[in-house]
Amino acid sequence: MICVSLGDLTPAGVGPALAPLTGDGLVAEIRLDLSPADTREAVLREAARVAAVPLVATCRPHAEGGRYEGSEAARVRLLELAARSGFAYVDAEFAASRLPELPSGVRLILSQHDFDRTPPGLVRMLRRMEARRPHLVKLCAMARSPLDCLRMVEAIRAARLPMAGLAMGELGAPTRILYRALGGAMTYASAAAGAETAPGQVSLADLRGLYRADRLGPRTRVYGLLGYPVAHSRGPALFNRVFAAEGKNAVYVPIAMPDARDLPHWLAADLPAHGYSVTIPHKEAALAAAAERAKAAATIGAANTLVRRGGAWRAENTDWRAAMQTIDRAARHAGFGSEALRGGSALVLGAGGAARALAYGLARAGARVTVAGRTAVRARRLAASLGMEWAEWDRRARVPWNVLANTTPVGMEPRAEESPFPAASLPRQGLVFDAVYTPPETRLLREAAAAGCVPVSGAGMFELQADAQYRLWFRRPMPGLSSR
Ligand code: NAP
Repeated sequence: MICVSLGDLTPAGVGPALAPLTGDGLVAEIRLDLSPADTREAVLREAARVAAVPLVATCRPHAEGGRYEGSEAARVRLLELAARSGFAYVDAEFAASRLPELPSGVRLILSQHDFDRTPPGLVRMLRRMEARRPHLVKLCAMARSPLDCLRMVEAIRAARLPMAGLAMGELGAPTRILYRALGGAMTYASAAAGAETAPGQVSLADLRGLYRADRLGPRTRVYGLLGYPVAHSRGPALFNRVFAAEGKNAVYVPIAMPDARDLPHWLAADLPAHGYSVTIPHKEAALAAAAERAKAAATIGAANTLVRRGGAWRAENTDWRAAMQTIDRAARHAGFGSEALRGGSALVLGAGGAARALAYGLARAGARVTVAGRTAVRARRLAASLGMEWAEWDRRARVPWNVLANTTPVGMEPRAEESPFPAASLPRQGLVFDAVYTPPETRLLREAAAAGCVPVSGAGMFELQADAQYRLWFRRPMPGLSSR
């Protein structure tokens, strides 16, 4: 079930808020605490009158992250009124001094929230809650690391009653999207982006439309994107669209992971995961964490793809070939000639995972490559490992090149006004590739075109590397790709 949580309702606003909510598998939570105190009764009566889906009455006290500040007796009375008025469920906090008395047929959701952290002992807490025999146990805890999602999964799997186990915040999204695949009974959604009643809620449109969350199950194959940030990525839209069109029981989820040290633990977890894309800044960590490494990935020193084969993770790199195909095509199209690479010189900006792939690909194509990195030691190490030159970041404008490749995130949304290379130092001819693909035309590319260079967007590379990932995961080309 997906429970759409509705807050800030006025009696007149109830009808319009509930009108779009129809169909099986949906319930609507009326957050009474988020309505003004003197309208709460009217809100609940109106909701009971117009709703086409079962309703959950919730009146969260301040101590549990809600906005209710009145007496406990009045709060319980309000919940009991909702139960008598036709609500199907009443949410009551495990910590509350008294549970509401519910008429038969009205189901109790017993909930516990921690907006600060995911505390130890989730399973112990679950057992204490189960002992009260609710219809459903709801445990919500703030994720401070993606590993907190795994601890919530452990609790969901231990549950003896139906359970909603949700990790909150940006890092908790996998538990919200994969609830059915992980064995959960319910997830909570916001009515729309920006209308969240708890941190990290995914909108109903995304849960149903993008992730098909209500159709996932224990046999769903899970794929995902490991990195930080991940919100900008086009991966979920691209892969989930293909999975839906093909009728595949598979889903692709963003997994925000700020700290690379969490990556090996995530990979070791017992999840129905079959493949991951890896993005900024974990490509080197992904290579190190994998049990097997494809030769190109090992030489490059970075992996953007993980494939599960026979229980072990294999690291692959689809970036380098995708980047080179994109550059090659653009060069030929512009009459630049791929011989410009053979014997030409290339400057790679950045010294991370994408830099390694570009430097490797450009060197393979025959270019003399120089790497310029903000952190000199990383640029020097990269250049030494691939047998090329390096330059201090501040001297990048003095390095001669006929191909420039930006592999830093400079110019990426939301800071699209930035450029990693001074416009005044762009030559009148040359090819400028930007790995950044949000926006598709970066400031660097606009200035390169204005100077007379051939601008090459990273958007094409993105599709080609995704296609190569799809081939590694499913052993066939990705259907419906425009740039192949
Ligand atoms: P990464 O491993 O984190 O490397 C990023 C590199 O950029 C690091 O060397 C970092 O410097 C440098 N950098 C970061 N901020 C900088 C700044 N303000 N000024 C100068 N240098 C800066 O990331 P990645 O995986 O290589 O990805 C890099 C970019 O390429 C991202 O925008 C990503 O979206 C894009 N990308 C696109 C595609 C595609 O298909 N189009 C594929 C891969 C990557 P330090 O060494 O000092 O940390």
